[in-house]
Amino acid sequence: MLGPDDRMNEGRENGADSRFVHIITYGCQMNVFDTHRILQVLRPLGYRETDDPAMADLILLNTCSVRDRPEQKVIGTVTRLKPLKESRPDMMMGVCGCVGQQHGRALLDRLPWLDLVFGTDNILDLPDMLAATHKGRRVANTRRMKRREYEFVGVDPAVERGPTAFLTIIKGCDKVCTYCIVPRVRGREVSKPADVVEAEVRSLVASGVRDVTLLGQNVNSYGKDLQDGPDFTGLLERLDGIPGLSRLRFVTSHPADADQGMLECFGRLPRLAEYLHLPVQSGSNRILKLMRRGYTVREYLRCIDTARKASPDIAVSTDFIVGFPGETDEDHRMSLDLIRAVRFDAIFSFKYSPRPGTRAVRMEDDVPEEVKAARLLELQTLQDGIMAERMSRFLGRVEEVLVEGPSRASGFEWMGRTRTNRIVNFPPPEGASIGPGDLVDVRIDEIKAHSLRGTVLP
Ligand code: SF4
Repeated sequence: MLGPDDRMNEGRENGADSRFVHIITYGCQMNVFDTHRILQVLRPLGYRETDDPAMADLILLNTCSVRDRPEQKVIGTVTRLKPLKESRPDMMMGVCGCVGQQHGRALLDRLPWLDLVFGTDNILDLPDMLAATHKGRRVANTRRMKRREYEFVGVDPAVERGPTAFLTIIKGCDKVCTYCIVPRVRGREVSKPADVVEAEVRSLVASGVRDVTLLGQNVNSYGKDLQDGPDFTGLLERLDGIPGLSRLRFVTSHPADADQGMLECFGRLPRLAEYLHLPVQSGSNRILKLMRRGYTVREYLRCIDTARKASPDIAVSTDFIVGFPGETDEDHRMSLDLIRAVRFDAIFSFKYSPRPGTRAVRMEDDVPEEVKAARLLELQTLQDGIMAERMSRFLGRVEEVLVEGPSRASGFEWMGRTRTNRIVNFPPPEGASIGPGDLVDVRIDEIKAHSLRGTVLP
């Protein structure tokens, strides 16, 4: 990213036509991936990325509808940026992603200083949309591509930074979880052809990427819509053979589509890193049914059991929603029991809040806010203890770490990740030169709350 000092140099290098885009990305990794695709589409138009909104010719908010009060957040940020727009009317401002898709033109009506709103299927239309805004038009484009005509934006490794990269392999979701807006804003599932995925992974590896995370709202549903392509397990097997690739990961998988073949890949594919994010959402079958998740607690536990039999040290993380409509103390207790039974490495937990456009919005949001808050705290406190215990198993162990870059905690140290997705900070080894993309053996000397610290072994 370019900062203030860099802009003058960039301007000199690229002439007076250099333009700058500042993108604020909310939410999940799929949005991070989409932000990279937006940058890719903007590059031929002369745009470079800047982290300073005051210097931008274009500001985009790439939004997410999943987390708490997404519309309010977007409206708050666009309002905060209003003085900047007033001082520089030639600077264009737009909203894209799920909130753009969901609210479309209504956002332009509500925020008269906003120039552009576009949806999740419209990234490739960006040059035309910008041309229209520069002629003074305000543009809302949320046209949804039909399943058959869906076109993925091809990956350009030049916009990736560092040795890790995300790669969307399936867009949309065909599930019907009652609390979720994703199927409405992202549409039906469309899998990227396996040949394209493989070619993209190869090109990322050729450009220095070593760790690729395959993305999808429901990633392990991959291939169901392809005529002759492999299923998700087949795709993993195919990618596992790519020379130069050190690690392969995937998120987010759905328990109902996590079959035995897929889970056993953790024990037999050398590049598949030992990390499984498998959202459960609740430990109560009654609530899972109200959520229309399509599996029972017993089936979920069977998935975990299969994955751990295949790979005993695998790290497992999950998502929980607390306070879903109708959730009783007993349902909540069952969630706590499930946490004790599985002993997750990490949990991402949220209080339920109704989302307009979902089925659950018609259910009475009957768990009082203070009860939701108390249940969330209880769940997180339980998990904090389990996580500390799970982390302690690393002490004294030697872990294979992929070096990602300078440590955020200390600019003098390096930061990398274990195969189980734990962050490790470590000082540079004496007498050896290492850099991003290298695999090093690190002895773990210290356990911190959310990371590890260690020493590189010769
Ligand atoms: S699987 Fe359920 S929660 Fe996940 S994106 Fe699809 S509908 Fe939403």
